[in-house]
Amino acid sequence: MRIFSGIQPTGRKHLGNYLGAIRQYVEGQDRGDPAIYCIVDLHATTVPYEPAKLRERVLDTAAMLLAAGLDPARCILFRQGDVPEHTELCWHLCSVTAHGDLNRMHQFKEKSAQQRELISAGLFLYPVLMAADVLAYRAHEVPVGDDQRQHVELTRDIALRFNATYGEVLVAPEHRIPEVGARIMDLQEPTRKMSTTAGTEQGIVYVDDEPDAIRRKLKRAVADSGREVVRAPDKPGISNLIEVLAVVRGEAPEQVEREFEGGGYGDFKAAVGEAVVECLTPVRERYAELRIDETALEATLRDGAERARTIASDTLGDVRRAMGVGTSF
Ligand code: ATP
Ligand code: MG
Repeated sequence: MRIFSGIQPTGRKHLGNYLGAIRQYVEGQDRGDPAIYCIVDLHATTVPYEPAKLRERVLDTAAMLLAAGLDPARCILFRQGDVPEHTELCWHLCSVTAHGDLNRMHQFKEKSAQQRELISAGLFLYPVLMAADVLAYRAHEVPVGDDQRQHVELTRDIALRFNATYGEVLVAPEHRIPEVGARIMDLQEPTRKMSTTAGTEQGIVYVDDEPDAIRRKLKRAVADSGREVVRAPDKPGISNLIEVLAVVRGEAPEQVEREFEGGGYGDFKAAVGEAVVECLTPVRERYAELRIDETALEATLRDGAERARTIASDTLGDVRRAMGVGTSF
């Protein structure tokens, strides 16, 4: 069972990333053979960004993942831009990717609507590069949050079309999306997902937020009318907080609803705040220790890239042979 997932170094990572993705990465280390995690700096260039900050952000993300429990002895952790096989495979996969499918991607529609100056072709091709990330390792399983469901499904389609066209070379992967916590919503705008590149400071709980900031953000989270702590389609704010508390405590959402039955929003929000502080504090403390040593972080990423490249170059050899591209050998 090979596991692969990627995370963008686009800014401070948040509670949604932690609950939807990072916790799954940590757990996957014991099942994956290997478990491969990639900081996708090439994806980060599909929207405006500051080149001088990108490397810093990669180190932030690496330190965050290690602080959350990734162990380079049990997984492969690397930076996408260090393994050029990803971009070459992206091009090869373009030959079996339907333009119409890319046009239907929710993420492209949402992110292109946010752009002020340029909707880059990179943003349009983002799902093909993501398919290349996964397929280069012939991964079986891709742990992601709910927003990436469509992209993993496209990755499957691309793999199957490649195999049907050129011969059996790639593996069609499955997504692994947690039942609860796969779509944590913005605290100020609970109808949109918490996001690294969109939303307001107050709506996003960062993994490295100070405890008081976390408590304040949860206290001021937009609640809904009424005072009952139950999940309902017309209660997106409270439903989101119920999910957060359930995942953080490892309980079922129904259990949370029972516990706060008859109570008001105030006590409930305070309980969510405390639980999130307790969950994130060890990660924030460890992050501060690890982030200081940039030489060690770079060495970890370099070592990971070497190991990743061994696997990806093997796949690329098979892809080139099957497609008749480049020198035959
Ligand atoms: P952006 O919104 O700019 O795409 P992001 O917050 O989605 O940034 P990514 O690095 O793209 O961050 O996502 C990393 C992982 O976190 C992905 O598996 C994604 O599905 C997951 N994820 C992102 N946001 C959430 C969320 N709000 N709830 C649960 N999982 C999430
Ligand atoms: Mg994203």
